[in-house]
Amino acid sequence: MDLSYGKEYEEFRQEVRGFLASNWPVEGDLSREEARSRFRERAVEAGYLARSIPRKYGGSEQPADEMRATIVREEFAGARAPGDVRGIGTMMLVPTLLEKGEEWQKEKFVPPTVRGDIIWCQGYSEPGSGSDLASLMTRGELDGDEWVINGQKIWTTGAHRADYMFCLCRTEPDAPKHAGISYLLIPMKQPGIEVSPLRQMTGGSDFNQVFLTDARTPKDWIVGKRGEGWIVSRTTLKHERNSIGAAAQSVATFTGLLQLAKSTQRNGRPAIEDPEIRQRLAALEGFVRAHEYSGYRQLTANAQGKSPGVLQTMNKLISTNIGHEVANIALDLLDDEGLLDPLADRELGRIPRGSRAWISQYMYSLGIAVAGGTANIQRNVIGERGLGLPRDAYAQKSK
Ligand SMILES: Cc1cc2nc3c(=O)[nH]c(=O)nc-3n(C[C@H](O)[C@H](O)[C@H](O)COP(=O)(O)OP(=O)(O)OC[C@H]3O[C@@H](n4cnc5c(N)ncnc54)[C@H](O)[C@@H]3O)c2cc1C
Repeated sequence: MDLSYGKEYEEFRQEVRGFLASNWPVEGDLSREEARSRFRERAVEAGYLARSIPRKYGGSEQPADEMRATIVREEFAGARAPGDVRGIGTMMLVPTLLEKGEEWQKEKFVPPTVRGDIIWCQGYSEPGSGSDLASLMTRGELDGDEWVINGQKIWTTGAHRADYMFCLCRTEPDAPKHAGISYLLIPMKQPGIEVSPLRQMTGGSDFNQVFLTDARTPKDWIVGKRGEGWIVSRTTLKHERNSIGAAAQSVATFTGLLQLAKSTQRNGRPAIEDPEIRQRLAALEGFVRAHEYSGYRQLTANAQGKSPGVLQTMNKLISTNIGHEVANIALDLLDDEGLLDPLADRELGRIPRGSRAWISQYMYSLGIAVAGGTANIQRNVIGERGLGLPRDAYAQKSK
């Protein structure tokens, strides 16, 4: 198996390195944000960032080439240069609009989202509707030229910072549950929207409850047709899972774990020399390598314009499993320190910063296995679509 990228791509890598050497860091008396945004403009101009986005929507419109995109990501990360603006807007909404949106919607929303000038949140989950998302109850009713929206969303990441929400609402109450949903874009800064933060065990407040009480949005701020929001939402979820399942993340956290095992002591010697720890690390490395090679398979499928199919779901599942096991071993290495509450000790300044990061990562690893569809739901998908097993009895009943 030849895992090198080949001559043509290695030449491209040199070209990217040359660009970085001349353009990053940006020279001049600029704030950090100005420097990052100036660099991004040049990188889009040169064809390195926003590659899949047409020029007229603020992208660099490059031919689809996953290998080149991967090289850009690798080289930009290596030089610590800013990559594409990351966030719910660029990773989920932009590809959805490009695939399913009206022309005016693309022109209005894609360029400022790609530049990072506007921020989005995702209004899917509700208190009674998570895995069984199609049971959602938030209502959208047409009143003249506007939709009037009433209901509640939950776990809405970044709603407190967002300018807009892409939201699933029930607009056809008499239709079967999957057919009665529409995909609306809603301005967040309006009297009908109340955002209430949820405190997490990490101490952060990344997500919120969002209460919509006669919230309003224009009639044509709907993506896809009325009642076809479920189909549009599948497009968004596909991109969400892709963004969670990247193998580079597994390799990076595992490498960090190895460093921790070298620098902490266990039974009077570096933990990496302890037989029990070595055995756990070796078993875990097997999964990390499997994920890495599955990542290459997904990359190859994308590069050949084929659908990666269930492989994408497998990569999401394995990546969250690895993230959890890495953090699990790290906490064991930290010993008693791993039991401390990262927040209480932030004030007292007792936990070294590295340990605090591992404790938070452990807590975060529990959440990320739920985001974008829980691990069990991924297993259902793999079983049904990958292995051809019979459909989940519960899902069939609730249809
Ligand atoms: C970090 C994070 C960020 C999030 N961000 C957002 C966001 O920005 N916007 C948004 O809309 N939502 C967001 N969510 C919500 C997320 O999409 C839901 O939590 C998820 O879909 C699960 O829904 P639930 O919490 O209602 O759990 P439930 O669906 O009630 O599941 C509870 C348990 O039952 C299991 N289960 C349920 N159904 C089945 C089944 N059919 N077969 C087997 N097991 C089953 C699940 O696997 C899980 O273990 C976020 C969640 C997290 C953790």
